[in-house]
Amino acid sequence: MQKMTVAEARQPDAAGKSARLQGWIRTRRDSKGGFSFLEINDGSSMGNIQVIAEAALANYETEIKHLSAGCSVTIEGEVKASPAKGQATEVQAAKVEVHGWADPETYPLQKKRHSFEFLRTLAHLRPRTNTFGAIARVRNCISRSIHAFFQEENFLYVHAPIITASDCEGAGEMFKVTTLDLAGVPKLNSAVDYTQDFFDRPAFLTVSGQLEAEIFACALGKVYTFGPTFRAENSNTSRHLAEFWMVEPEMAFFELTDNMDLAERFLKRIFSDVLSQCPEDMQFFNAQIQPGVLETLETVVANDFVRLSYTEAVEVLTRSGAKFEFPVAWGHDLQAEHERYLTGQHFKKPVILFDYPRTIKPFYMRVNDDGRTVRAMDVLVPGVGEIIGGSQREERLDVMQERMREQKLDPETYWWYLDLRRYGTVPHSGFGLGLERAVQFVTGMANIRDVIPFPRVPGSADF
Ligand code: ATP
Ligand code: MN
Repeated sequence: MQKMTVAEARQPDAAGKSARLQGWIRTRRDSKGGFSFLEINDGSSMGNIQVIAEAALANYETEIKHLSAGCSVTIEGEVKASPAKGQATEVQAAKVEVHGWADPETYPLQKKRHSFEFLRTLAHLRPRTNTFGAIARVRNCISRSIHAFFQEENFLYVHAPIITASDCEGAGEMFKVTTLDLAGVPKLNSAVDYTQDFFDRPAFLTVSGQLEAEIFACALGKVYTFGPTFRAENSNTSRHLAEFWMVEPEMAFFELTDNMDLAERFLKRIFSDVLSQCPEDMQFFNAQIQPGVLETLETVVANDFVRLSYTEAVEVLTRSGAKFEFPVAWGHDLQAEHERYLTGQHFKKPVILFDYPRTIKPFYMRVNDDGRTVRAMDVLVPGVGEIIGGSQREERLDVMQERMREQKLDPETYWWYLDLRRYGTVPHSGFGLGLERAVQFVTGMANIRDVIPFPRVPGSADF
C-alpha cells in the first residue's frame, strides 16, 4: 500500500489506487445510511480529502463514531472518483486507525471562525487552521523562490553572523548579547566593564547583514544573505517585529539603476511563483482575507513599477491636498502615511523612491553630485508600504570619512569597512527585503504577527 498525501489523493489520477493517508480530522458527519464522512487534512494542501467510513468497519461504533476535530488518524483504503460536487476524489476506508484523541470539550479549535488575536494565544495549534496552513505554505514558497531567483542568477548565498559587534548604522535599536550577571554588572570607572564580558566588548544581535555582505560582494561579485534579523525598536505596529527574516543581496559593479532593476525583477519573480505554485491558497486569501489580492498581484507582475525621486514625491504629496498627521517637507523622512498615500492611493502600484536627502540617511549611502541627496531607494507596495530598503554604497574613501565625521561616528570601529574603500574599491549596491512584509503583501494579512510562525514583539516572546 502506497503512502499518499492528501494533496496527491485529491488529484483525479489518484482514482483507482489504494492508499495510506495520515493526518488530522477536520470534521465528522454521520449519515442516516449508517456510515460516516470524515474530512482529513495533513497540511499538504488547503483542501481536505473526504473519507467514507462504513458501519462494517471493526471499530466503527467504538472509535470512528467518536472522532472529532483534531484527532489524528491513519486511513487505509481505495481512492475513488467522487460523485460529490467540488471534489475529484474520495477515499473508501478499509481501515481507520486512531493515534490520538482530541477531547471536543477542551480542544480550542472548534469549527467556528476564531479571531487572529485569539489564535495568537494558540501559536502551538494555529498551524492546524486553514489560514495558518496557507500562510506556512506561501511563506515556504516565497523562501524557495528567493533562493531559486538568486541561485539562477549566480549569486552566492553568504551566511552573515547573528552576533555582531558592529551596528549597521541607523537601522534601529539593538539587542545586547551578554553573559554578564545583570544583578551585579562589573564596573570600571562607573561604566560597564565589557572586558569581563564573553566577547571582551559590547555585542549585539544583528540588525542587518549588509556590512558583511559588502565584504563578500567586494571579493566575489554577487552575493546574498537570508536570515533572522533583530530590532529592539519599541514599536507596536502591524508592520514591525523584534525578530524577522531579511534577504539582502549585495552586488559589485551595480549602480542604483541596476539595483532598482534587480529589486523589481526579484519581487515580480516571487509574486508570480506564488501565483503559479500556490493557486489554491491564493484563492483562499482572495476569498476570505483580502478580496482583490489575486488581481493586485497579477497586475503588479505584469506592469512596470513607478520610479520617483524623493524630491518629486514631496511635490506629489504637497500638491495632493491630502490631510496627513505629519507634515510633508523636503528634508524630513517620509512617514508610513505618506508612503501609503503614494503607493495605495495616488499611483495604485508599487513605487520605487530614490535619491533621499543625505541628512536623513546613513553614512554608507553614496552621495550624489548635487551634494544634497544620496543614492537611496525604497520600494513601496500598496497596503504594506515599505517592503525593500536599499542603496548604492559610497565607494569613495574620502567622502565616506567625511560622512562619518558628519554623523559623529568613530572610524576606528569601522576600520575593516573603510578598508574595502581603501583597497580595490568598486561601485556596489544592495538592498534588504523583509520576508514578512512580502508575505503580508502576497496574502493580504493585516498584521505581521500572523505571517511569522512565532512572533516576537515588545512584551511577548511566547512559544
Ligand atoms: P521601517 O521604516 O518600515 O521601520 P526600515 O527603514 O527601518 O523600515 P530597513 O532598515 O530599510 O527598514 O530594512 C529593510 C527592510 O526590512 C524593510 O524595508 C522592511 O521590509 C524590513 N523591516 C525593517 N524593520 C522591520 C521590522 N521591525 N519588522 C519586520 N520587517 C522589518
Ligand atoms: Mn528602510
